[in-house]
Amino acid sequence: MTTLRPVRGTRDLLPDDALRARHVIETGRIIADCYGYDEVATPIFETTEVFSRTLGETSDIVSKEMYTFQDKGGGSLTLRPEGTAGIARALISGGLGQHLPLKFFYSGPMFRYERPQKGRLRQFHQIGAELLGVAEPIGDVEVIALGSAILEALDVRRLTTLELNTLGNVPSRAAYRAELVEYFRDHENRLSHDSRRRLTQNPLRILDSKDENDRAIVAGAPDLDDSLDNESKEFFDAVQSGLQDLGIVFNRNPRLVRGLDYYCHTAFEFTTDALGAQGAVLAGGRYDGLVAAMGGPPTPGVGWASGIERLSMLVETVPRRRAPVAIVPIGERAETVGMRMADRLRKAGFRIEIGYRGRIRQRMKRANDIGASAAILLGDDELEENSATVRDLQSGEQASVPLNELETFLRKYE
Ligand code: ATP
Ligand code: MG
Repeated sequence: MTTLRPVRGTRDLLPDDALRARHVIETGRIIADCYGYDEVATPIFETTEVFSRTLGETSDIVSKEMYTFQDKGGGSLTLRPEGTAGIARALISGGLGQHLPLKFFYSGPMFRYERPQKGRLRQFHQIGAELLGVAEPIGDVEVIALGSAILEALDVRRLTTLELNTLGNVPSRAAYRAELVEYFRDHENRLSHDSRRRLTQNPLRILDSKDENDRAIVAGAPDLDDSLDNESKEFFDAVQSGLQDLGIVFNRNPRLVRGLDYYCHTAFEFTTDALGAQGAVLAGGRYDGLVAAMGGPPTPGVGWASGIERLSMLVETVPRRRAPVAIVPIGERAETVGMRMADRLRKAGFRIEIGYRGRIRQRMKRANDIGASAAILLGDDELEENSATVRDLQSGEQASVPLNELETFLRKYE
């Protein structure tokens, strides 16, 4: 027999987890709306090319983490490992390039084959934002401000630090790359296996290595700032002063690079030490080369994504679910009336539970167990008088309420 466990790296969202996730998504949605970002959703799978072309064959995601499969039509499909490539694809296939700038918010599942740990899953979920068609640094500032505002609204901004860096424009990045290769070549035989591979394919990623030995070598690597040209410096200055102007505190981290190949200029990450090794909470940057790399019109872009599981772990207070009102019918006739009453009240917007079976004592116990705010007792006497007995389960007080006044009476329990 197969073991009935969730697949490694996947999780069920039972009601309490689902409530937490919903709180995160709902908060993101509300704040994104204030910033003028419209919600979009793209499919959870795309042709493999959408990711391999844009994330770069050498990125960790494409080289090791993708869930790629052949469907019955023989084409190669991939479960999306991140949201940006799909949105860029949608921009091209939907001809949205005519309507720039575009401001998008999204949420949904992502899939990466990696070693599952606390805060690291194979099916995880992200909220994210993308701003397309804005080449100015004010775009970077707005996108970071949006991320920061969502963290604030979730009351977790105080647990995070904003780390900020620039990769410079394309020529600066290329110049820095050359410097790095030269430096790491001198230390090649002491680098980890992964980093040696990166040296020829994606040397900037070595800066991001989590290997202890690599980190010591990285500490002596040349400074990116020395490779930045004037345009890159001015751009970064504008981003920094824009953030300062909004009171968004950040740390310059010259070692922060994004794992993905299409980034340029701004890179940022809100990190925390409250989650152990999985410190990245919300991460993003500018990706001016992405849409063109996919074959679309050159379109600047800047955005971020944030792991809902990591946010959920940080969030301390989650809105409680609505307390229901319980209908407790006593006797067969009351049961029919009770079902009808439940239906009417539910349609009026109340959260109603009805005791399914048992004696009054058992039904009252269930009402208490589920945290009902009040119980509506329906017995022969009540039916006779066209009324119901409403018991406040907090105070224990009881009132006889005519049926036609029931809705009004119950408003206080909403
Ligand atoms: P990490 O360094 O933790 O692997 P990353 O650089 O791969 O992160 P991004 O691709 O920038 O992450 O994704 C943005 C956010 O999505 C991360 O900051 C994190 O909150 C979340 N995230 C990424 N991978 C996972 C995962 N496997 N499980 C849960 N959350 C994840
Ligand atoms: Mg990763």
